[in-house]
Amino acid sequence: MIQDFGRAGPAQMLTGRGALLLSRAQVPVSLLADGAPAGAPLAPDGTVSVDIRLTDGLVAAVQAPGATEGPACDLGGRQVWPMLIDMHAHLDKAHVLGRAPDSGGTHAGAREATTRDRLAHWTREDLMRRMDFALACAEGYGTAAIRTHLDSHEGQAETTWGAFDAMRARWAGRVELQGVALVPLDAYGTGHGARLADLVAANGGLLGGVTRVSGGTHGGGLDDIDALLDRLFALARERDLDVDLHVDEAAVASALPHVARAVLRHGYEGRVTCGHCCSLALLPEEEAAAVIALLAEAGVALVTLPTVNMYLQDRTPGRTPRWRGVTPVQELRAAGVPVAVAGDNTRDPFHAYGDGDMLDTWRQAVRVLHLDHPFADAPALAGAVPAAITGFAAGTIRVGRPADLMIFEAWSLDQIIARPQSDRLLVRRGALSAARPPSYAALAPHEEPAPVG
Ligand SMILES: [Zn+2]
Repeated sequence: MIQDFGRAGPAQMLTGRGALLLSRAQVPVSLLADGAPAGAPLAPDGTVSVDIRLTDGLVAAVQAPGATEGPACDLGGRQVWPMLIDMHAHLDKAHVLGRAPDSGGTHAGAREATTRDRLAHWTREDLMRRMDFALACAEGYGTAAIRTHLDSHEGQAETTWGAFDAMRARWAGRVELQGVALVPLDAYGTGHGARLADLVAANGGLLGGVTRVSGGTHGGGLDDIDALLDRLFALARERDLDVDLHVDEAAVASALPHVARAVLRHGYEGRVTCGHCCSLALLPEEEAAAVIALLAEAGVALVTLPTVNMYLQDRTPGRTPRWRGVTPVQELRAAGVPVAVAGDNTRDPFHAYGDGDMLDTWRQAVRVLHLDHPFADAPALAGAVPAAITGFAAGTIRVGRPADLMIFEAWSLDQIIARPQSDRLLVRRGALSAARPPSYAALAPHEEPAPVG
């Protein structure tokens, strides 16, 4: 018998045990791992009406609507999404606002403030306390997997990777984690590079870095960039590590083609992600097209961080910003370059806001990047694309996988985007989840700001 979702109450239906049919769910086709089932009606916004069959907390089938056998929960056309992936975060920096020195909202100021906060405070205990809070936020929003970059300077790397490893074990099955080493690229010209690569390999992480020199900004000072990239890729190759880099986070910078050529030199196609790539948007069309073609040839994936790029790029005190700071996502996708969207920094000197809610990041990305009219497969940027890049199980609805879902009080993509969806229902392994973002009171004890000067 079909029960109405509203009258039955989801808590009674969604227990994670036995068989249950979620009937008349409206799902973006781009978030269905196997595409739209035959006969399922497709809406103009790229979502499709399906019945989702659950068995003991797993997705057992996704089929055209109309099934009647067994207990059922009629969603009446409500949007149902998988839990999402945030494939570029900084859990080690998160939630230091009010403690770290003020950054002025600029990239240079953020770097300086973060260095001071790191040197003053980043013990294992401090890192674990803040990471724990950030992960509880993510869980409360249905962000089920995070790839986090970890500042891995000499003297800090062991402490941070130890804290990360403990967090990964503590949160396994709730928020899956991957770690990426983050150092200025010139670190790979020192003995620390090889030691860091060993540490990353021992912790199952990715090798990474930022295409600027220590203490410098993007866009200058890296005269030996090709040699440094060769060293990084050699270290990665020796240890069979994937690579994830921060590239060209500035209006004028040109490391990206160097990275693509290094990928081709080292046969690392399909194993490299580049984040930010802001300056690509300001190149003359012909130059940009050539770089994009090179990225496609090298099988490089990109990740755009719209909330942080909007915050940091084109900021001058007293002057209103004139550009959005994001990379040309539509042109990259048209050329076959995989592009994901991610959240980057949360309540730290690089971004004063954010809360680990990938749905919120995606909603903002649609507006910033014009991923609408039509929506096409825009949801893929927060689901299927990062799933393919990272290998995380979240991000799509797939038969045989745990039923980790979000049910929205929304019937179309425009309704999803119009409201914050604070009343979304989280379903974990087929059971209704009580997880909610924690109170800021959980960040206590309050710590005094670091001394300035
Ligand atoms: Zn970042």
